[in-house]
Amino acid sequence: MIKENLRKAADIIKNSNKIVVFTGAGISTESGIADFRSEGGLWTRYDPSIFANYHYFLRDPEPFWTMHREVEHLMDKAEPNPAHKAIAELEKMGKIKAIITQNIDMLHQRAGSGSFKRIPIFELHGTYRVYHCIKCGKEYSYGELNIKNINYPICKCNGFIKPKVILFGESLPEGILEGAIANCSLADCFLMVGSSLLVTPANFLPQVAKKSGAKLIFINKEHTPMDDLADVFLKGMAGEIFTRLMDLLKEDSQ
Ligand code: NAD
Repeated sequence: MIKENLRKAADIIKNSNKIVVFTGAGISTESGIADFRSEGGLWTRYDPSIFANYHYFLRDPEPFWTMHREVEHLMDKAEPNPAHKAIAELEKMGKIKAIITQNIDMLHQRAGSGSFKRIPIFELHGTYRVYHCIKCGKEYSYGELNIKNINYPICKCNGFIKPKVILFGESLPEGILEGAIANCSLADCFLMVGSSLLVTPANFLPQVAKKSGAKLIFINKEHTPMDDLADVFLKGMAGEIFTRLMDLLKEDSQ
């Protein structure tokens, strides 16, 4: 079954040149960054209503920063895996129109995505590497924050400092969702990798692409509540599936 489905997915990719890739935390687990909801994921250790909630952060930033130190360290050490690299390779081949990611880890950029055909990368939930004061907006680099001996950093204006990641209860960066929707509505293929499709509004995007006539390929370790939308569902580890998909595409081009 997986073989047949791999063939079907490779054919869709072969016949597409406006692929929109949509990724979630699952694409980066093989790079050593745990997702949130799987066993051993961050949410099993850090209650998101305290550690990743914007309103809680405004009262007390300490729990967020406790979790963020761990996340920051993991993300700095992580390297792009075969799935990130295959997506960058597909961009080189002129197949990809845009990447929409829920991840904050910058592994797509580090795999080279966005630099070959200058496709846009929509980071729906922001990025872990840029910090700012939520009161005056002043931006900081991680080095400048010097957080070793403090519980959390504070700006010169006395405002709390936070990475530009989107916490629960916070709005998405301006224009990002609109850009993502516009790209999904022009896609000929929507390639979802490693998302539980449980987080709104990001999980509206497969429906936008479907309504606009795109073929949908889902690559995920587990089933999602939206599997009925998929033309092909490839169940398994993203790195391994992408390696096999890229082999098929290479064989076809010889
Ligand atoms: P999620 O944790 O809700 O779902 C991840 C999905 O990926 C699960 O269905 C899981 O079965 C699947 N998965 C795990 N490993 C996989 C693998 N190797 N191959 C294929 N599938 C795999 O994540 P989500 O849907 O992205 O949404 C939750 C939020 O998590 C997002 O807002 C995102 O910002 C945040 N997050 C990001 C990172 C990151 O930047 N790497 C890490 C953790 C959480």
